[in-house]
Amino acid sequence: MGKHGVSILGATGSIGTQTLDVLRNFPRMRVRALTGHSNIKQLSESANEFKPETVCVPDAEARIRLRALLDYDCEIVTGDEGLLYCAAESGAATVVNALTGRVGLEPTFAAIQPGVTLALANKESLVTAGPLVTEAVKKAGAKLTLIDSEHSAIMQCIEGGARKNIEKIILTASGGAFRDWPRERIEKAAAAAALRHPTWNMGKKITLDSATMMNKGLEFIEAVYLYGVRPEQVEVLIHPQSIVHSMVQFADGSVMAQLSTADMRIPIQYALLGNTREPNDFPRLDFTGIGSLTFEKPDARRFPCLRIAREAVSRGGTYPAVMNMLNELAVQAYLEGELGFYDLSALIEKAFDSYTDRGLNSPGDIREAEDWAQEFFRKG
Ligand code: NDP
Ligand code: MG
Repeated sequence: MGKHGVSILGATGSIGTQTLDVLRNFPRMRVRALTGHSNIKQLSESANEFKPETVCVPDAEARIRLRALLDYDCEIVTGDEGLLYCAAESGAATVVNALTGRVGLEPTFAAIQPGVTLALANKESLVTAGPLVTEAVKKAGAKLTLIDSEHSAIMQCIEGGARKNIEKIILTASGGAFRDWPRERIEKAAAAAALRHPTWNMGKKITLDSATMMNKGLEFIEAVYLYGVRPEQVEVLIHPQSIVHSMVQFADGSVMAQLSTADMRIPIQYALLGNTREPNDFPRLDFTGIGSLTFEKPDARRFPCLRIAREAVSRGGTYPAVMNMLNELAVQAYLEGELGFYDLSALIEKAFDSYTDRGLNSPGDIREAEDWAQEFFRKG
């Protein structure tokens, strides 16, 4: 029998658990493998419910803990090797990569196989390796779809339409926790405030990336890689209501937009169904309740990460990988109170000035760029 069903990398996270929730409505899609990291209890509960043949945990100790919590027999694999096994060899027709951060890169490459659909939530892997990923997908005869409200919106807007007719992509942004705060107040804010997102409930890193607007920067880079547009053809607009998830303006002046409630299960379902639609009973939009939809330009002085992402993708090569690695390290340092809010963007700009790119031809080039970024970060 050929590949069938779904494997979820990062099944215990925000996207992972919402993916499982969507799958409750589609019992025909069997869960083949689940992976978790620190949350073994949650992983065991999901495994007991969905009964995947393979479950991945970080190490032997976690394996013992998980085994004791499972009420059925399955294979428990461990570590990076186990993660790659779940990405490449679980037998799933659809692999959801819902890992957070750089750790998602190798599993992204491993999942790209003939006939397999890679449903990518892990934006960091596309940002660092975009051209290599899209090339590998084409070569393998795999399918790439994104689990992200903005990219799901864009894919829906260009559904059936010719890409050559795209004039502009308008990426909408909620504006994050500090949308209306003055720079002086953002500078002094505690990390806890940055983690209070106004419209979405997500993992820590992406919530912090939303506060700095680096999240929109990452999505900006993805847009350039995915839809073959130039950086000047991508515009970011602040849309506080998070109802219009992005728009595409075509060569004839028409604009297509995708609207829905701020519910990640909608883009997740669309991706799991290979970019097609089926009914569900998720809450619907209430237009009279919404009142108005507003759009404004982001303030570059308060949110320099947007400019940095534009710069990274314009410079090309491994600059986005350097940016991504430094962002990841800086986010961690900010959450631990060791780095100020604006130190993050200043650090990446300083790094760009001293980095020499040698081109992006293989995953090895990314590792070298990341090693350089780690060393740069360590030296401060
Ligand atoms: P979470 O932090 O909620 O979940 C991350 C998942 O990855 C968890 O299952 C976690 O396991 C696992 N994980 C973390 N570190 C490691 C590691 N070192 N090795 C193996 N597994 C690990 O993140 P989100 O679900 O919010 O985000 C996932 C990705 O999706 C990100 O790239 C994000 O940008 C993107 N995304 C998220 C959206 C959202 O609404 N949340 C929207 C659009 C995109 P454990 O919890 O067990 O430690
Ligand atoms: Mg998004």
